[in-house]
Amino acid sequence: LAVEPPSGGECSIKVICRVRPLNDAEEKAGSKFILKFPTDDSIGIGQGPESRREGKLFVFDKVLKPTVTQEYVYDVAAKPIVGDVLSGFNGTIFAYGQTSSGKTHTMEGVLGDPTMQGIIPRIVQDIFNYIYGMDENLEFHIKVSYFEIYMDKIRDLLDVTKTNLSVHEDKNRVPYVKGATERFVSSPEEVMETIDEGKANRHVAVTNMNEHSSRSHSVFLINVKQENVETQKKLSGKLYLVDLAGSEKVSKTGAEGSVLDEAKNINKSLSALGNVISALADGNKSHVPYRDSKLTRILQESLGGNARTTMVICCSPASYNESETKSTLLFGQRAK
Ligand code: ADP
Ligand code: MG
Repeated sequence: LAVEPPSGGECSIKVICRVRPLNDAEEKAGSKFILKFPTDDSIGIGQGPESRREGKLFVFDKVLKPTVTQEYVYDVAAKPIVGDVLSGFNGTIFAYGQTSSGKTHTMEGVLGDPTMQGIIPRIVQDIFNYIYGMDENLEFHIKVSYFEIYMDKIRDLLDVTKTNLSVHEDKNRVPYVKGATERFVSSPEEVMETIDEGKANRHVAVTNMNEHSSRSHSVFLINVKQENVETQKKLSGKLYLVDLAGSEKVSKTGAEGSVLDEAKNINKSLSALGNVISALADGNKSHVPYRDSKLTRILQESLGGNARTTMVICCSPASYNESETKSTLLFGQRAK
């Protein structure tokens, strides 16, 4: 593992754009693949003369084509952050994009399938591999929490009785989710079992999981504490892994009542996130609007500052999704 701390001065927000393949249903419906990859850090959108006229390219830290492997995504998007967390820094990895753009595929992948597993299981494995390789003077304590944010309410996925947790500040004024279950874990298998448990709880409470997951943020937190028993030196690093709610605009016709409330809420928290990221990217450290949503409050200490942040913006390549993909690319651009 590369154990290079994030540099304090420069912006430590990395934006990676990942494009999923065109799927069968899209192909059958006549959707075209409308994205171009001129270089490995740029992407163009559009097929008609309009796009030629615009000639607009979006540039990110990296653009990942549909053919890249899950392992490659991990190496680019997550591995450096794992090194930071083990050196006592905080980090956050987000997946942003419209529903069915590949967020969960990127964060989780197919759990239990070694080649198809996503970022989270690979991180977990890597953390333990690192620990197993360290000398005996180091004592590690790893705990995980798992919750979701729905309609600006925090629900504990490891204890279904906790449906509305609140955000408090500790004595150093660092925000945290008060009362969230913390599970001590001592092997990758235990972490994966905890994730399974949380996912099962998430399913139980809702009638349509696809709809629900597109309207809530899921947050998995890994906290690594280590102590050198000889020198007493302590390090602590927190890593937030966030599968965000779908970024799509709710259709103007048909949305009413609770659906509209949900949509407004998602909109509010994703735009709060966009504002925070953009303020951090501009180096505007005194006016970062963390307090505008629960999500950004919780992440305060793990975004910007001496924390490392990676945002994976997930895109559909289908002409049918052109306007959503464009807005996803614009969101990613705000962080640069
Ligand atoms: P989201 O979480 O953004 O709603 P998903 O990750 O569930 O989207 O992806 C939607 C569908 O597309 C799933 O069936 C998933 O397996 C598939 N998919 C997403 N990304 C890829 C990819 N890079 N390669 C192959 N299939 C993908
Ligand atoms: Mg999903």
